[in-house]
Amino acid sequence: MGVTVQSKKFFLLGVVLCCLFAMALYQLANSRQWQLFGNIVSQVKTEEKVVALTLDDGPSMRYTEAILQLLDVYHVKATFFVVGQDSQRFMQQTKKIVQQGHELGNHSYTHPSMLFKSLSTIRQEIEQTDKVIRQAGYQGDIHFRAPYTQKLLVLPWYLNQTNRLNISWNLGPDSHSTRAVKKEAESIAQYVLDNVQPGSIILLHVMYENGEASREALPLIIRGLQQQGYAFLTISELLKRDQR
Ligand SMILES: [Zn+2]
Repeated sequence: MGVTVQSKKFFLLGVVLCCLFAMALYQLANSRQWQLFGNIVSQVKTEEKVVALTLDDGPSMRYTEAILQLLDVYHVKATFFVVGQDSQRFMQQTKKIVQQGHELGNHSYTHPSMLFKSLSTIRQEIEQTDKVIRQAGYQGDIHFRAPYTQKLLVLPWYLNQTNRLNISWNLGPDSHSTRAVKKEAESIAQYVLDNVQPGSIILLHVMYENGEASREALPLIIRGLQQQGYAFLTISELLKRDQR
């Protein structure tokens, strides 16, 4: 009898520990500030009023040109974390991004969740995308951003082995994880203007059909931040200001 009670207790303890472990893994996988190997950057430490605008996914045939024109009007240089297969498909748009002096970052080739992918898949996703980025004529450092900002073991290990930085963000008003913000242009812009800090990395999704609110928010964010005295840098430029 005593043995049965004892083993039930151990079983329950095991279940609780497994749950806690799973919760810790979940937190780690989705954290924008922590990873097991190498460096992940969500914000840069500086007192200067500088930020980086990062635009994820694409490029797309439909929206790239208008976004580039808008950035040009405000003299803003941004960082485009492109998906390799989209860049390959829309090479002309990708080249235009480079020609206009923006930075290209690697956002994987097919945009999978990389949580449980094998080393060879991860390597292929990253290296193939770098190749396309170089084909588009981009010559600067290529930084990486994980699809869905998810990583666990193999991805950070590979990034670290190949001296790549994982760039996340601290202001993602249109991201699912930023639940407090209504997905409307004014709310998206207001969130950024209220929460910006020197060294912030802003993330927006403007490349696909469903990015309408973010596309409308983009000029509001740029004008608002410029009025607050902020300058826009690319990720590589922002990293050079890091005082850590
Ligand atoms: Zn993405």
